[in-house]
Amino acid sequence: MSFFRINRRKCDIPVQISDLIITVSFKERKGTGMYKAKEDRYEKMRYFRTGKSGLMLPAVSLGLWHNFGDTGVYSNMEQMCFTAFDNGITHFDLANNYGPKEGSAESNFGQILKEHLMPYRDELIISTKAGYGMWPGPYGDWGSRKYLLASLDQSLKRLGLDYVDIFYHHRMDPDTPLEETMGALAQAVTSGKALYAGLSNYDGPTLEKAEAILKDLHVPFVINQNSYNIFNRTVEKNGLKDTSAKLGKGIISFSPLAQGLLTNRYLDGIPEDSRIRTDGRFLREEQVTEEKLAQIRGLNELAAERGQTLAEMALAWILRDGIVTSVLIGASRPSQILDNIKAVENTQFTAEELIRIDELSGNAEAV
Ligand code: NDP
Repeated sequence: MSFFRINRRKCDIPVQISDLIITVSFKERKGTGMYKAKEDRYEKMRYFRTGKSGLMLPAVSLGLWHNFGDTGVYSNMEQMCFTAFDNGITHFDLANNYGPKEGSAESNFGQILKEHLMPYRDELIISTKAGYGMWPGPYGDWGSRKYLLASLDQSLKRLGLDYVDIFYHHRMDPDTPLEETMGALAQAVTSGKALYAGLSNYDGPTLEKAEAILKDLHVPFVINQNSYNIFNRTVEKNGLKDTSAKLGKGIISFSPLAQGLLTNRYLDGIPEDSRIRTDGRFLREEQVTEEKLAQIRGLNELAAERGQTLAEMALAWILRDGIVTSVLIGASRPSQILDNIKAVENTQFTAEELIRIDELSGNAEAV
């Protein structure tokens, strides 16, 4: 018999046309090339308890602040997410305003979820935040109930999710009563739109007040998100680190590599594909002073003595005392993620190494 056999996924359609038998395979856009996570994805990563809560987070988490907006390359975003998850990074961090343009990182990640990661939803911790300027007018900024709850609805829509795992208030609001902001976080949880609540950029005393309110409201508040790295010791000075440990709350440290300064990125000048050149909004050329470069070189030498890259050592340093739950890295390519996860292999430091890090980074007084 003569026919065409058309393979369309699993169905063969015989078509009688001539004496030839030809197999035509259709490549469907959706379905083909679907990501499949590596079987051994949980073998190397370490997971730490978030404070005294039941939530475990990977020692290294991936943040989507940069390189996931509309100016990023979608296939690179996909590959970074796959590399992360294949290596045990279960936590992806977003905010309403990540882009540019605002909201686009959530939309792009939502697309990746829809096309590839949704089968793994229950293996993922996805967080988002509201607190910085998001839309015009008086209701798209700071900490009102109006802003937080509307923003969470918008985020869920962009992400294509029914709930996020952690919803954060993104920064302290000096003018809105703390009870109102915490009440909005409580509502986010009781409505089922967030599983846990978090606070970002709070200091020790404000954290303590907020925690008391959240406790009264029975909100599962589990984590603080703050900047913390070898150069930036603010959380050690403003009481956040001690208070968080005292209250049994977790800390996830953002910009743990000081946006790339604590890596080999700027050792030989400013590369054209670096954050300084490709974005320049938050890390600027004038921040790479001769003094800073001398510090980075010194730290780089110490890292080499420890058999680590500078990025690995910088991340390991944050995890050294077991107080910080996770380091929240950014990346512009998959290879950086692979380098950074090696940090978990050695988070031990000698007292002498710690002193040298303080001296080299201009933090000797912090000892
Ligand atoms: P990092 O300090 O980890 O900086 C990431 C940048 O460092 C990368 O984009 C890359 O820069 C460079 N880099 C990373 N790894 C390597 C490596 N192995 N070798 C060389 N260069 C490397 O973090 P981010 O500043 O990106 O912040 C991380 C996350 O923290 C954000 O995505 C966000 O989720 C969160 N965050 C939260 C804030 C808040 O207010 N709550 C504020 C800021 C961030 P390059 O592009 O030059 O390659």
